[in-house]
Amino acid sequence: MAYFGTIGGEPPRRHFSCLACKQPITDGQHSTRIEFQSDPDGSAGLSGVYHTACGRPYQSLARVVNMNPWARF
Ligand SMILES: [Zn+2]
Repeated sequence: MAYFGTIGGEPPRRHFSCLACKQPITDGQHSTRIEFQSDPDGSAGLSGVYHTACGRPYQSLARVVNMNPWARF
Protein backbone atom coordinates (compact mmCIF):
# COMPACT_ATOMS: atom_id res chain seq x y z
CA MET A 1 0.00 0.00 0.00
CA ALA A 2 1.50 3.23 -1.08
CA TYR A 3 1.72 6.02 1.44
CA PHE A 4 1.73 9.55 0.14
CA GLY A 5 0.82 11.37 3.34
CA THR A 6 -1.86 13.48 1.74
CA ILE A 7 -5.09 11.58 2.31
CA GLY A 8 -6.82 11.19 5.65
CA GLY A 9 -4.13 12.72 7.75
CA GLU A 10 -1.94 15.66 8.41
CA PRO A 11 0.82 15.65 5.81
CA PRO A 12 4.27 16.30 7.18
CA ARG A 13 4.95 19.75 5.81
CA ARG A 14 8.43 20.34 7.09
CA HIS A 15 10.02 17.46 5.28
CA PHE A 16 8.86 16.08 2.02
CA SER A 17 9.35 12.48 1.14
CA CYS A 18 10.67 11.59 -2.25
CA LEU A 19 7.81 10.11 -4.28
CA ALA A 20 10.17 7.68 -5.98
CA CYS A 21 12.10 6.10 -3.12
CA LYS A 22 9.74 7.20 -0.29
CA GLN A 23 12.67 8.39 1.78
CA PRO A 24 12.53 11.80 3.45
CA ILE A 25 14.35 14.54 1.62
CA THR A 26 16.64 16.14 4.13
CA ASP A 27 17.93 19.67 4.01
CA GLY A 28 21.26 18.72 2.49
CA GLN A 29 19.77 16.73 -0.36
CA HIS A 30 18.94 18.13 -3.74
CA SER A 31 15.29 17.90 -4.56
CA THR A 32 13.15 18.83 -7.47
CA ARG A 33 9.44 19.41 -7.78
CA ILE A 34 7.77 17.71 -10.72
CA GLU A 35 4.28 18.63 -11.86
CA PHE A 36 2.15 16.26 -13.88
CA GLN A 37 -0.77 17.94 -15.61
CA SER A 38 -2.67 14.68 -15.24
CA ASP A 39 -2.20 14.88 -11.47
CA PRO A 40 -2.50 18.58 -10.58
CA ASP A 41 -3.17 18.03 -6.86
CA GLY A 42 -0.73 15.16 -6.40
CA SER A 43 -3.49 12.74 -5.41
CA ALA A 44 -2.18 10.12 -7.82
CA GLY A 45 1.22 10.34 -6.20
CA LEU A 46 2.93 11.70 -9.28
CA SER A 47 3.16 15.45 -8.81
CA GLY A 48 5.40 16.33 -5.94
CA VAL A 49 8.92 16.49 -4.69
CA TYR A 50 11.62 14.03 -5.64
CA HIS A 51 15.28 13.72 -4.96
CA THR A 52 16.90 15.24 -8.01
CA ALA A 53 18.48 11.90 -8.95
CA CYS A 54 15.32 9.88 -8.28
CA GLY A 55 13.19 12.36 -10.19
CA ARG A 56 15.14 12.24 -13.41
CA PRO A 57 13.08 9.46 -15.07
CA TYR A 58 9.88 11.04 -13.75
CA GLN A 59 10.87 14.35 -15.22
CA SER A 60 11.06 12.74 -18.65
CA LEU A 61 7.70 11.11 -18.02
CA ALA A 62 6.20 14.41 -16.91
CA ARG A 63 7.43 16.04 -20.07
CA VAL A 64 5.61 13.42 -22.13
CA VAL A 65 2.46 13.59 -20.01
CA ASN A 66 2.38 17.36 -20.07
CA MET A 67 2.70 17.38 -23.83
CA ASN A 68 -0.09 14.81 -24.03
CA PRO A 69 -2.41 15.61 -21.14
CA TRP A 70 -5.00 13.21 -22.48
CA ALA A 71 -2.64 10.25 -22.13
CA ARG A 72 -3.37 8.06 -19.13
CA PHE A 73 -0.78 6.12 -17.22
ZN1 LIG B 1 14.48 9.57 -3.69
